[in-house]
Amino acid sequence: MKAICVVDVQNDFMNADGALPVPGTDKIRGKLAQIAKFARDNRFLIFFTQDEHDGTEPEMQANGGPFPLHCMKGTIGQQNIPEMSPLGYTLFTKKCYDVFDPTLGNNYIEQYLKDAPIDQVFICGVVGNICVEAASLGMAKRGIDVTIWDDAVVFMDLGPDNNIGTSWKKMAAAGVGFGLFDSMKGMLL
Ligand SMILES: [Zn+2]
Repeated sequence: MKAICVVDVQNDFMNADGALPVPGTDKIRGKLAQIAKFARDNRFLIFFTQDEHDGTEPEMQANGGPFPLHCMKGTIGQQNIPEMSPLGYTLFTKKCYDVFDPTLGNNYIEQYLKDAPIDQVFICGVVGNICVEAASLGMAKRGIDVTIWDDAVVFMDLGPDNNIGTSWKKMAAAGVGFGLFDSMKGMLL
């Protein structure tokens, strides 16, 4: 079964005034809305990952990590942007960037993928070289055919060892494919 996986399209990441804004998200917002509409209109399987923090996580600056507090449980910042409201959809919350992390990820996603069963996933969202990459590598490792929708993902330049180029290389080496929602949507049904 095919599915769309939407990674962390939350107000704190997607909005310029969010707690941890990702530059360039305005370029994919319209595409994300089209993807949500596509899934709704065609009853195409779609599921979401979301950061959900309480401030105790190692990734927070207060605990020696790189990030300010963001996506705190129960806040508007933690919610998906309205274009991609998760209402009625499956949602996997996580306490770190990797939804497959054995302790801070989400224990249910693995079983969900197996039960459906899902063998092909199209991924969009933010950030390409962090949470999107972790989700795509985790699924590829579990034998799922993964495609990144480049017109609906935003990458960040975090230096010579962590940017769009290093991330593409890592994902391609794991067998992840790349495409555009616009050119693939006609073949999905
Ligand atoms: Zn986080």
